Amino acid sequence: MILLDGKKAFDFFIEKIQYETDLIKKNINESPCLCTILVGNNYSSKLYVNKKNSICSKIGFKTHFIHYNNDISEKLLINTIKKINLNKNIDGILVQMPLPNSINTNNIILSIDPNKDVDGFHPENLGKMALGIESYISATPKGILLLLEYFNITIKNKHCVIIGRSNIVGKPLSMLLSSNNDNFGNATVTLVHSYTQNIETYTRIADVIIIAVGIPYFLKANMIKKNAIIIDVGINKIFCKKTNTYKVIGDVDFNDVKEKSSYISPVPGGVGPMTIIGLLYNTLISFKKKIKYGKTL
Ligand code: NAP
Repeated sequence: MILLDGKKAFDFFIEKIQYETDLIKKNINESPCLCTILVGNNYSSKLYVNKKNSICSKIGFKTHFIHYNNDISEKLLINTIKKINLNKNIDGILVQMPLPNSINTNNIILSIDPNKDVDGFHPENLGKMALGIESYISATPKGILLLLEYFNITIKNKHCVIIGRSNIVGKPLSMLLSSNNDNFGNATVTLVHSYTQNIETYTRIADVIIIAVGIPYFLKANMIKKNAIIIDVGINKIFCKKTNTYKVIGDVDFNDVKEKSSYISPVPGGVGPMTIIGLLYNTLISFKKKIKYGKTL
């Protein structure tokens, strides 16, 4: 079994992003700027935003952080986003999800300028992606594609089962992997969800399984075929009685599955770091479009 070590892949891609950022800075003394917006005080959300901002700073991106209390109105949040849309110094906007129930998430996504939608959630970007037109690919699917690329895994001709059909992971990924593209697509994709009967019927014949359901230990060894490639997107916080602390695990029963698989991504340290790479790539692309910089990564 080979571990799909997201930290190793992260280091590789971050160096590439930093190299290009430094080069541009040397030439024109400008660098990309990511604006993060956090609503409320959810512990994990705060942690994610801080992490993204600290990595941005390390590689020379500028950051702009906006924090609102839980009771902010949808209207005020949209007005803030509209102002940032017009701010030429900001290249990417990330609104940390989930938002409070009082705010309609779709209205927030729709208010972001698609050119600054570095999370790739706006319908214009999702639609373009579905049509194979250049766009921002959602950060997690983009990170997964880069993880596969780093480990020289081609998806072409393989049967790929995606468990979970969210708008930010399963759905876009199913479109990308089944697209007519030899680099990251041309797989046969089966997308399963909570209404699928006997999920193991599909997973047992899959060459690749990508799981994003948010249920700890969901995928077991008896649900996969020998030498399957397993990508675990899940992030679940569980209480560990032994240490009396919380720990983060994925959707895969890692110890049960690892020896039967050919490749497997761990949690933490698999898809998580690569999602940040996806976001930074998109921010750099947005910045390069603004300054009309030709070279592509
Ligand atoms: P989500 O919106 O939480 O939806 C979960 C999906 O799983 C739904 O499509 C649901 O089916 C499906 N599902 C639930 N129970 C199931 C079952 N018993 N059998 C089969 N399918 C089932 O999805 P998400 O936002 O993609 O999040 C999923 C997990 O990934 C979470 O743990 C989240 O924290 C993690 N995540 C990680 C990253 C990262 O960077 N590593 C990024 C995003 C998300 P229905 O549609 O039928 O309800």
